[in-house]
Amino acid sequence: MMLEPDKRSYCFGVADKLEAERDLTDDEFSAVLLCDEPGFDEYLSEKARAIREKYYGKAVYLRGLIEFTNYCKNNCYYCGIRRGNANAERYRLSEEQIISCCDMGYDLGFRTFVLQGGEDPYYTDDKVVSIVKAIKEGHPDCAVTLSIGEREKDSYQKFFDAGADRYLLRHETADKEHYEMLHPSELSFDHRMQCLRDLKEIGYQVGCGMMVGSPYQKTEHLVKDLRFLQGFKPEMVGIGPFIPHHDTQFADCEAGTVDMTLRLLSMIRLLLPDVLLPATTALGTIDPRGREKGILAGANVVMPNLSPSDVRGKYLLYDNKICTGDEAAECIRCMAMRISSVGYETVVSRGDHAAFGME
Ligand code: SAH
Repeated sequence: MMLEPDKRSYCFGVADKLEAERDLTDDEFSAVLLCDEPGFDEYLSEKARAIREKYYGKAVYLRGLIEFTNYCKNNCYYCGIRRGNANAERYRLSEEQIISCCDMGYDLGFRTFVLQGGEDPYYTDDKVVSIVKAIKEGHPDCAVTLSIGEREKDSYQKFFDAGADRYLLRHETADKEHYEMLHPSELSFDHRMQCLRDLKEIGYQVGCGMMVGSPYQKTEHLVKDLRFLQGFKPEMVGIGPFIPHHDTQFADCEAGTVDMTLRLLSMIRLLLPDVLLPATTALGTIDPRGREKGILAGANVVMPNLSPSDVRGKYLLYDNKICTGDEAAECIRCMAMRISSVGYETVVSRGDHAAFGME
């Protein structure tokens, strides 16, 4: 007869196995996700910190986030800028405005610019190409990251040829049925996954990721997410808690928790030791020290906002978003202080994934 394993030593043992083997069975992943033993989070995050320090020391990489449009042709049920939200006050930045954000960001020490937006057909392939080229011409020592949703492979190829280095496209959930509960039927799980494979094939450093605690999410979905990350091997993984937006059908749903987000950050660090892992704005929104806690759980990237201050309050994916009132210079000062308060250091660097050297 099998003896019921002592729960406490079982959980800690599974954490040791994750560290040593970078792999677990589905049941073991669930056990780590569900473990409520005192001291377990600290045990897991100590291991995650040790690994991140082995690869990246105390460095925290900065990405300057430019939210350049909040027009969106999609209607994701969770998102405050979905097309069906008539209350969203829409804006777009011109190429000149985007370039001047980058110029200012460069002077502040940013060497990566992330252009994020809704899926806005106004920015045709040619416009995106022109923007990417202009940034790379002005700042050849910088990396450009795009985060503009799903396009076809030839468009992704054009952006890459224009100089874009990285692409962020969260997979949102690795379970097709769950995906369909979060998106209208015109959006397809298979197409999103195809986009991720296309991006990788083209040669981008690719970021994917999921929301933590999104509506209908179960432990088994998170296990699938981890399994997907393990197989896909993205260069970056962006995760953050789901936070309800008052003008969506998920307005009354519960937000994801800090603790589950931190636990997943540590697990992802152990699973993909040299991955780039941001402590996200959403994490900083549900907890005033969320980003610092994220760094202590194994994250090594932060993405301060570089958008012009007059549009910041309009890029509202969820309620109570932080840093909507600050100037960029203020944001970076604040961020550097937060990071050093937990013993880490923001650095001026492109912060490429270890497998991609600077050319
Ligand atoms: N249109 C781009 C960028 C989307 S915004 C794209 O489709 O990739 C970036 C991320 O914000 C999304 O991928 C999603 O994971 C997250 N997000 C959107 N709404 C959110 C909410 N209510 N709470 C937390 N995160 C949210």
